[in-house]
Amino acid sequence: MWKIKGIAASAGIAIGPIVHMQEAVHDFCRLVDASQAPAEKERFYAAQQAAEKELEILQERTAINMGEQQAEVFAAHKLMVTDPSFVEVVLNHIDNHQASAEAAVEDAANEIAAMFAGLDSEYMQERASDIKDIGKRLVRILQGGTAEVNYTGVLAAQDLLPSDTAALDLNCVSGFITALGGKTSHSSILARAAGIPAVVGVGSALEKLNNGDHVIVDGHVGEVLVNPEEDILNDYRLRIKKEQERAALLASVGHLPSETLDGHHIELACNIGTPGDMEKVIAAGAEGVGLFRTEFLFLDKTSVPTEEEQVESYKAVLAAMPDKKIVIRTLDAGGDKQLPFIGGLPEANPALGLRAIRLCMVYQDVFKTQLRALLRASVAGNLHIMFPMIATVDELLSAKALLKKAAEELTQEGIPYKSDVAVGIMVEVPAAAAIADILAEEVDFFSIGTNDLVQYTMAADRMNEHVAYLSDYFQPPVVRLIGNVAKAAQKAGKWVGMCGEMAGDPLATPLLVGLGLTELSMNGRAVPVVKHRIRQLDIQKTQKWADDILSLRTASDIKKRLEEIALQFEI
Ligand code: PEP
Ligand code: MG
Repeated sequence: MWKIKGIAASAGIAIGPIVHMQEAVHDFCRLVDASQAPAEKERFYAAQQAAEKELEILQERTAINMGEQQAEVFAAHKLMVTDPSFVEVVLNHIDNHQASAEAAVEDAANEIAAMFAGLDSEYMQERASDIKDIGKRLVRILQGGTAEVNYTGVLAAQDLLPSDTAALDLNCVSGFITALGGKTSHSSILARAAGIPAVVGVGSALEKLNNGDHVIVDGHVGEVLVNPEEDILNDYRLRIKKEQERAALLASVGHLPSETLDGHHIELACNIGTPGDMEKVIAAGAEGVGLFRTEFLFLDKTSVPTEEEQVESYKAVLAAMPDKKIVIRTLDAGGDKQLPFIGGLPEANPALGLRAIRLCMVYQDVFKTQLRALLRASVAGNLHIMFPMIATVDELLSAKALLKKAAEELTQEGIPYKSDVAVGIMVEVPAAAAIADILAEEVDFFSIGTNDLVQYTMAADRMNEHVAYLSDYFQPPVVRLIGNVAKAAQKAGKWVGMCGEMAGDPLATPLLVGLGLTELSMNGRAVPVVKHRIRQLDIQKTQKWADDILSLRTASDIKKRLEEIALQFEI
């Protein structure tokens, strides 16, 4: 047996034979006679139409198998296939470089991808892999290839683009291994959404794997064991059985109340990015939405979504759970989420620059449109509006003043809205945590955003692997800030929740409940395990544990203590 180390991208264990994905063959002719340009263009247009049809089918199939949010990528690809600037580059290659349709598409996709990849934004860099994916699809269609592929076993590939994964029969693929990619690449996100164990970023080790090699993919630790001995195989088979039992147990708590043993209700909600995610929120047994990241409605657009479009999206989310609390966060753009139509000024430190509420207060027309849309949608359910990145009382008061102005306009125009919409803030900047008692007087609720609270408290970029050792929500200063915020909110009689990644970590659950948080918002998959843990807690005990943990000196001391505590839980 030998081992390959990679990145743990999707948890779980898979055992099976290796099957390598076949890469498309690029043996088309690149140059054609100038007189053939019209015919090459016709071939390109026909391929474009066929690609649109394929993408429509993929979008529908992915929505059914993996949910609306995963399917969105194909809606975006459909737009990109017909995007005038892409088409212009392709036609230019045919007209001016005597390129065949295949060569023109490949070159155009590579050029545009290189441009995206060079931009200083993770979001735009991801668009580079989208445009390459579109190029591959068009070339395959031009060469008469089909989209259907059948692989059975553990799939090994250089990278898995969205269309590769969507064309697979996922019932036959037990695991993924890729040479490229990281935790947030498309392949990883799709593997997690489909619940398939995956190890990515194994590099050139992929080439050492032969078709038919028997492997264990350990998606928990990011390891691939190649041709393991029988006793190791038996060990892992046992682990798979335990995981299956655990999944069955968690499925059984799905719709039970999220209550501690002594009857305290801890609200469990989900984080969403589009209205299409609501199906998953309901299926997860969550009680509402604790964070709707509205920037996703803006990111794929070339101009600001209109007030009407926004009203529709917000209403769709509210109407999916009309009696439940739905927390919609106003636009958190800027930083690493640059929009083409606002902001975008060069900044030395974008994460410390014009981001979220700061950007919205500069582009007040865009912000007011969103606030009007939110108020108009409020009639459809139980809306809570949340402002991101608040650091000062003045920022909060300015945002509230603009909300008031939006409400006054609607009144004057005779447009209905709810006048008692709850207003809260994300506590994700240490400044806000430090003055939580003052801010609490001005809000109905707090939601702690640990992703940014960790980044700004520890002065460690959340995307920078060199300082990953600091990016830990169990760092004592972060835990203490959470405690301070919870205390301030409780004193003011306001509820305090959490929507950062920490909320979905069952190891943290006893601590967060003990510190006084009453709402936790997470991705749908985390809901059953956190709920199961809550159902085994006793509030008084959690408060004692939290007091004790607040005095610990290091993140590893805190984790060790929480691991000891976790030993007494069934899962
Ligand atoms: C956070 O910062 O914890 C948060 C939930 O917001 P985002 O991850 O969208 O910045
Ligand atoms: Mg944040």
